[in-house]
Amino acid sequence: MQHMTESQEIEKEAEHLYKNLQRVGWSKEKCRSIAPITLEINRLKKELNAIILAHSYQTPDIIFGVADFVGDSFGLSKKAQQVNADIIVFAGVKFMAETAKILNPEKTVILPSLEAGCSLADSITGEDVRKLKAQYPNVPVVSYINTNVDVKAESDVICTSSNAAKIIKRLESDTVIFIPDMLMLKNLSAETGKKLIGWNGKCVVHEEFNIQHIQELKKLYPDIKILAHLECDPSVAMNADFVGSTSQMIEYVKKSPAKKFMLATECGLVERLKVEISPEKEFYGACLLCPYMKKITLENILESLLDPDDEQIIKVDKDIQVRALSALQKMFELSK
Ligand code: SF4
Repeated sequence: MQHMTESQEIEKEAEHLYKNLQRVGWSKEKCRSIAPITLEINRLKKELNAIILAHSYQTPDIIFGVADFVGDSFGLSKKAQQVNADIIVFAGVKFMAETAKILNPEKTVILPSLEAGCSLADSITGEDVRKLKAQYPNVPVVSYINTNVDVKAESDVICTSSNAAKIIKRLESDTVIFIPDMLMLKNLSAETGKKLIGWNGKCVVHEEFNIQHIQELKKLYPDIKILAHLECDPSVAMNADFVGSTSQMIEYVKKSPAKKFMLATECGLVERLKVEISPEKEFYGACLLCPYMKKITLENILESLLDPDDEQIIKVDKDIQVRALSALQKMFELSK
């Protein structure tokens, strides 16, 4: 069999990238410029037995060029449980990479950028949770997965936006500590009918969507379907046609006969859908960028595979890992 030359390989990779990325406005030239990097990353993945898990909010070059699995926090944590690879590179933010480490303590988990944090996760510490527990003894603590590992270790159960309502309803207690997303808490209070004690954390992306914007879009396009993430303000959620997690939004758009949609969430999801679904379905309104998610690039993924800095390798103390794992396992149990 004749081997391809390097330039033929690059051309083939550029074609492959262009097939998907042209739907989100990428030129052939731009695809050609990243082809050597995606080729090298994919080669290193095989050589090192590494896998890349990517959140739907990542850029399309990562999602369609190098990711092995793309999903939301719940899908990614389930996937992280089944991974066979020796190395997991997380194209997402720190709490997601930590979750993969909690589930795979013996594997190497890499986060390519140390700046990939999260406003929600960084709003609360394990010490804050201990104080809340002292203030409300015997009240179960449900923590959103968007929390750092010390907070997960202090929690009874973790939840994601896909299963939060189900988990809160399944707990026997009528009062629940739900941390740290205050807007999500308000949406969940209405849905679950339980008394929720919270924390004033917010997602810097989802708190920006407002009701005026939605009303204007509905006036312009009366047949538009508005989908809001559970982290949005309740005024937005109440005026949406559907409220849920990113994976639930994907399902909704794929199944809906409607042709026009507005997604009140991060732009990455809109771009992913533009590639994956029929071009007949169109997206309107402004999406917003998460500054933390966008810290991950093809370049830092490549560098972290070639020669990871010590800080890029996620480390979790054994005691904390065991306690956080128990709260995560409780989530898998209660969300069945
Ligand atoms: S979109 Fe919001 S919740 Fe998600 S990582 Fe960014 S800041 Fe955190």
